[in-house]
Amino acid sequence: MSTIAYYSNKPELYPTYDGNDLGYTYSKDSTTFKVWAPSAKQVLLKLYSTGSFYEKDATVLGIKQMLFDPQTGVWSLTVKGDLNKTFYTYVVQTEKGVNETNDVYSKAVGVNSARSMVLDFNETNPQGWEDDKHIFVDKPTDAIVWEVHVRDFSSSDSSGVSKVNRGTYLAFTEEDTVIPCSNYPTCMNYLKTLGITHVQLNPVFDFGSINEVTGVEYNWGYDPVNYNVPEGSYSSDPYHGEVRIREFKEMVKSLHKNGIGVIMDVVYNHVYSTADSPFEKTVPGYYFRMQDGRYLNSSGCGNVTASDKVMFRKFMIDSLKYWAEEYHIDGFRFDLMCCHDIETMNIIREELDKIDKRILMYGEPWTANDAENGISGEDCCNKANAKKLSDRIGMFNDDMRHGIKGRNDDDSKGYIQGSTHSAYNIIAGSMGASSTTFGNWANAPSQCVTYASAHDNLTLWDKILKSNWCNDYFTTDELYLSQNKLSAALVLISLGMPFILAGEEFARTKLGDHNSYRSPDNVNSIDWCRTVAYEGLLEYYKGLIKIRRAFSPLRDSTTKAVNDTYIVYNGRIISITGVNDKENEFKYFSLIVNNSDTPAPIEIKSQFELPKKWKIIADSKKAGLTSLGDYEENMQIPARCAMILVDEESYNKINQK
Ligand code: CA
Repeated sequence: MSTIAYYSNKPELYPTYDGNDLGYTYSKDSTTFKVWAPSAKQVLLKLYSTGSFYEKDATVLGIKQMLFDPQTGVWSLTVKGDLNKTFYTYVVQTEKGVNETNDVYSKAVGVNSARSMVLDFNETNPQGWEDDKHIFVDKPTDAIVWEVHVRDFSSSDSSGVSKVNRGTYLAFTEEDTVIPCSNYPTCMNYLKTLGITHVQLNPVFDFGSINEVTGVEYNWGYDPVNYNVPEGSYSSDPYHGEVRIREFKEMVKSLHKNGIGVIMDVVYNHVYSTADSPFEKTVPGYYFRMQDGRYLNSSGCGNVTASDKVMFRKFMIDSLKYWAEEYHIDGFRFDLMCCHDIETMNIIREELDKIDKRILMYGEPWTANDAENGISGEDCCNKANAKKLSDRIGMFNDDMRHGIKGRNDDDSKGYIQGSTHSAYNIIAGSMGASSTTFGNWANAPSQCVTYASAHDNLTLWDKILKSNWCNDYFTTDELYLSQNKLSAALVLISLGMPFILAGEEFARTKLGDHNSYRSPDNVNSIDWCRTVAYEGLLEYYKGLIKIRRAFSPLRDSTTKAVNDTYIVYNGRIISITGVNDKENEFKYFSLIVNNSDTPAPIEIKSQFELPKKWKIIADSKKAGLTSLGDYEENMQIPARCAMILVDEESYNKINQK
């Protein structure tokens, strides 16, 4: 029964359990409930006919005494009969009082998470689910991640999605949507043409900040209630627990059908409400890191969970495996990963590897408050400790992000706005933070998530405008567009795993709102009309993605490409030249970036012998796999331009086919 290796040698307060049957095990004949509650004096199972506080006819179907196993701390009970769609809670009596609570291991719930629900999961599978397959890339550096919020994706009129599906999981199943009265693709129809490999969804587990009855508020959802249940407000019916599950699977199926993998943003580092949390109600004081009776707060949300304790670690592992297996999730992005200990993250990697080694794992290598983390600085997942983690646990490279655009929310400038101080961070980042010369907090580029913007903070466009003292979010001024393009080239033509916020490629604006977690739809929703207004920028991103996919060394997950790459840097101009031994691809490749207001000489150098003749495939206007002209000796790179050159010989060979 035990499949999980525990290496933690910290003393545990209670007996622990390593079975894989916590929660319930359903069959048509009977259902067995198991809950770990070692400090409880008594646990009652309470069965209900409905899942909502709001339904007046809610009937208690029965209250049953559970049986305790002191060896494992588990209370269990088998109830005869078909309990499909029966709701339940546990009434847990401890020294600290009596709590009625959801199941920590809930797999389905009623509206607003009032009660847990027994479900026959065979009924939750949409048609064709048995043929749905994971979408994996061979290595993290092959992924190109696009981060989007379920509601933002389709909530605007411009999405062209049917009114009933806007802002929901099912919007992802509409495959031929266009901006109304046009031919411009939106949503899934748009994603098919973009070239990204994965979407990363902002929280889609059940969170607490939206009233699922009204569903009118907006929230990003970083406030977990039930980790193993899909959020109800994105479904067409939050009351019947099976509906959100089926619709979530429909979303995954549609993305997979179109060749796009699904990454979940998981927020195991804190819960919505400490007192109301099933963790706290079931085993008071166990699941969180505490000091002198006080909850520690490295999560910034009033509590930080204790990944270093056996049963929370086990919960994380069970939960992640459950999403990967039941919902076919292809990767996980860990919120405030530095709240978790290194040992736990490495064990998670080993456990997910048993399902598939290609499941992506990466996270934020910081906390909200290091002083309140409750584990030693040597044990937490920050960049300084990256080398203690698996090569396949990535971290967002905030050094590169700062280098590209300056600080997140103020008017400071980075390299793209002409700063002369930040090129070093960019060079180190473009080498996947794995270069012994320029800086190597990572083991290899597979560990380095390269990005300029994410859901937090100003959008890239808003940041560019702010640092240029411009308030016109609809401007198409070439200066700002050129700065955005420089960022695109630095993110997409780097070693590492590129990541972009949805709409970064068409100058998405949140009207200067730097923390839009509960701002209204008119701030957050994607305005698909911008794909038309900023078509040139969008095409530039698409072209860079094509280039990335055409030159294998950019996607090398090892340090070989780092060692083969030659960098020239003169204070303003960065020149990065790589070689390729893969057949039928460009053999030599050079990215030259000029962030100054004046043209500058081009310098291409390598430790390898270089060809004389080059083709230009990207300049300040266009990027792609088609020649924009020949490189000529003593040619200059224009102001604010990212230029990409490939050797003429292999270019001609590829284009003769
Ligand atoms: Ca919810």
